[in-house]
Amino acid sequence: MARASESHAHSAIPAESGWYVEAMEGLVGVVQELSHARSLDKITEITRHAARRLTGADGATFVLRDGDQCFYADEDAISPLWKGRRFPMDICISGWVMLNAEPAVIDDIYVDPRIPADAYRPTFVKSLAMVPIRRGAPIGAIGTYWAVKRMPTPEEVSILQALADTTSVAIENVTLFDELQRNVKALEESNYELSRFAWVASHDLQEPLRTIHTQLELLQAKNLGPLDEAAHNRLRLVKDGTSRLRHLIQSLLVHARAERMEATGPVDMAEIAKGIVTDLGTQIEETGAEIVIGDLPTVIGDPVLLGRVLQNLISNAIKFQAPGSRPSVKIDSKRSGDEWVISVTDNGIGIEPEFQEKIFGHFQRLHSQEKYPGAGLGLAVSKKALARHGGRLWVDSTPNRSSTFYFSLPTAPHGAEG
Ligand code: ADP
Repeated sequence: MARASESHAHSAIPAESGWYVEAMEGLVGVVQELSHARSLDKITEITRHAARRLTGADGATFVLRDGDQCFYADEDAISPLWKGRRFPMDICISGWVMLNAEPAVIDDIYVDPRIPADAYRPTFVKSLAMVPIRRGAPIGAIGTYWAVKRMPTPEEVSILQALADTTSVAIENVTLFDELQRNVKALEESNYELSRFAWVASHDLQEPLRTIHTQLELLQAKNLGPLDEAAHNRLRLVKDGTSRLRHLIQSLLVHARAERMEATGPVDMAEIAKGIVTDLGTQIEETGAEIVIGDLPTVIGDPVLLGRVLQNLISNAIKFQAPGSRPSVKIDSKRSGDEWVISVTDNGIGIEPEFQEKIFGHFQRLHSQEKYPGAGLGLAVSKKALARHGGRLWVDSTPNRSSTFYFSLPTAPHGAEG
């Protein structure tokens, strides 16, 4: 109580109220506790204890307005009061406090006409102080009770009112927090629905597309002779269109898969890289590309997503070349702290420094379809897929010489992310 004597010298706090300083200090602790409360139950629990402790009363109640009734939600007292009971607003003192939005301070409850004496007779209560929660339009009340006849002091009432005001803010916070939680949940659900829809739609779209593609190839092969050049060109355009559509759909699938990230396990990146080189056979043959696969680690993740990342980077490395140049691509890795960093280096056209960030955005492309076909989604979905693994994707490039795309993955399994 060192502060009490200091306070006497220069504040308006009365000399006899050493406990008032103590109560104020206690109130600061309660304010902190209330600021962390995330439910009405927790607020009730904190407040009922605090009301009794701060005022030194023999009992305290936490009352909530429930329509035209007062609900005695909780209590902390030397013997039972009215916990769990409801009384009409117009016959009980907590109702009076709420309806009038002002405190009630009573030294002898049996002579005050606002008190329903019958309800009090079985209890220890002789005197009380009660304050409204939320002074504008009260939503509840806090009551404190004494087993002896005494007039509660103005300081006790002011501490109690300060507690009620803090409680009111805490209740408002909980209401807002609940609302926020509900909105976040609704958003997560709709996000999940959307990604599921994108997945199903893109999955189902692949089937007819595959048929169109195959039929076109057959048509092209069979009618190569009799078709004139214009028809031949048309066929080629349709085929290019379907390839782009397929590319787009695959990117959508990866995007939706990354959103859900369900299947994770050990992924041997060297095996994945070899499989991709086989899959890219035609592109490699046509360009005469040389692909070197260095030492690659086994990581924990989704094999389909990580395969897609590597495939996007390797096929870009082969694609973004000056006309006539022979692609040379090296896939390598090194350990850096608790991450693996995998790199794909090419000898291609490179990327100007001012575009080295931009290319990771959705639908961002630096060249025309005629020059370098593509959808502008590969890097964006790769970045997303890696983020879901706790990894990053970045580039280091010298224009007209080479680019190295790096991606990192944690060496330890990445915890499921929301
Ligand atoms: P797409 O390849 O379908 O255009 P990406 O998202 O994979 O889409 O790439 C976005 C853009 O980044 C490309 O259009 C290209 O301009 C640039 N880019 C990607 N990889 C390379 C690379 N290895 N060398 C040069 N530019 C690249």
